[in-house]
Amino acid sequence: MTDEPHDLPITVGCLVAGEWVSDGQHTNRAGPWTRAVVSTARQADDIDVEAALRYARRGAKAVARMSPAARAAVLERAAATALARRDDLARLLALELGKPVKDGRNEIDRVADTFAVCAAEARRIGGEVLPVAGWPRGVGNTALTHRAPVGVALAITPFNAPANLLAHKLGASFAAGNTTIVKPPPQAPASSVAVVRLLLDSGMPLEAVQVLHGGGPVGAALSSAPEVGVISFTGSPETGAAVARSAGAKRLVMELGGNAATIVCEDADIVAAARICAATGYSNSGQSCISVQRVYVHHSRYREFLDAFTLAVEKLTVGDPLDPATDVGSMVDDDAAERVVAWAHEASAGGATITTGGRRDGATVIPTVVASAPPDARLIREEVFGAAVAVQSFDDFDQVLATCNDSRYGLQAGLFTYDVRRILTAWRELEVGGLIVNGSSNFRLDHVPFGGVKDSGFGREAPRWMIDDYTVVKTLLLRGMSLSGEQEEI
Ligand code: NAD
Repeated sequence: MTDEPHDLPITVGCLVAGEWVSDGQHTNRAGPWTRAVVSTARQADDIDVEAALRYARRGAKAVARMSPAARAAVLERAAATALARRDDLARLLALELGKPVKDGRNEIDRVADTFAVCAAEARRIGGEVLPVAGWPRGVGNTALTHRAPVGVALAITPFNAPANLLAHKLGASFAAGNTTIVKPPPQAPASSVAVVRLLLDSGMPLEAVQVLHGGGPVGAALSSAPEVGVISFTGSPETGAAVARSAGAKRLVMELGGNAATIVCEDADIVAAARICAATGYSNSGQSCISVQRVYVHHSRYREFLDAFTLAVEKLTVGDPLDPATDVGSMVDDDAAERVVAWAHEASAGGATITTGGRRDGATVIPTVVASAPPDARLIREEVFGAAVAVQSFDDFDQVLATCNDSRYGLQAGLFTYDVRRILTAWRELEVGGLIVNGSSNFRLDHVPFGGVKDSGFGREAPRWMIDDYTVVKTLLLRGMSLSGEQEEI
């Protein structure tokens, strides 16, 4: 493997039992914009899976022996290395995925933040002295807890943000003292390996990580393995359910899909709301689990918002993801682009108006605005995961909350209002993991808990909360020994 993104195609091996393995069967990844092969990844087979699981048991012991200070130092160096390699990594994301370098640089800045936050959390892992003498049977005893590493973590990542989502899983798992097996998305093998490389180059020991490329069968074989103590999965609800079936009774964190809603009330700053929704509905071509998909605007401001939003969307620069001026590059492949366009036209056949876009050029969807889609359109009910946004009008605040909740998903929502009563009502009533006020659904801080309810999953992904998932509470009970000097009552 080479770190030179312009030296194409990049061959990436599997990292198994401390060695990069390159010989064997490979799969090519052609970029959706250039159409040329960007990377060729060695696919893991059953022998690799077995070897990785065997090695992981040993690796877990080695990582657990490292001090938290040493793990934190690696993660801090990795944060600096990510920034030093920012442009190369962003270029790789653009080539493998069609993600604009503007978005790619932003993702790598977040990778650096994520590693820095993981380092800080590594230093805080500890335990408690419990007040056991507060109950008669505890008198004369002492109980302590500490958070011990789970041992072996499995990180399964999706294609849309392959660097930062991997940074979250691998960074927090290492911070907690685990070894991690990474199953990257088939669409971004080189970008994923580049993240692993920067950790290794920053001093992460080989025992701490393995990388097995492949699709469903490799993911399923790893998920079902008894050696794996915790699985952190990000992807679609259907794949998440398959992972849960393979995993059986294992600790799981599931970060799944969404069809995020943003509500614009009558007191909102309409120009700002339109600008923010345009920027965050089409970044990464809408391929984000919290991308703005449904905007509900109070009927008194609907026309004003629709016009301002359509104008802002038309101003987005569409084209070459490698051009720093590009706002909207390509989607992951032609089929994904075709789905988005088809759903927009389906809504239009049901009575909606496409105010702009509604077509594609190869894998690039021209940013599409669909006004007044029928409530049963797939653009409203399912996850579009693409560059199309539906703009709907509402009359009553309580009703629009119910409309937002009428979804199998519940990841994040946006709300534009200055009315504190409405903010608190929405926070209480919306069935989501997070509410963004005076912002769209598409905003995330990497040190703040993030995750969903309903079919959007469970568990919260931010280093502090993930460390809870990646550790087990171990109790030490000292009988007949008490800090307060009482005798145990027998
Ligand atoms: P996907 O479900 O197709 O694939 C995700 C990962 O699972 C890939 O690495 C894939 O190879 C692997 N996989 C496939 N079958 C498997 C199996 N049977 N067992 C184990 N692993 C298997 O998802 P995608 O298309 O890569 O990503 C898009 C989806 O991810 C969207 O639904 C999006 O909303 C979701 N997503 C969610 C979040 C979040 O934080 N909630 C973030 C990003 C993306």
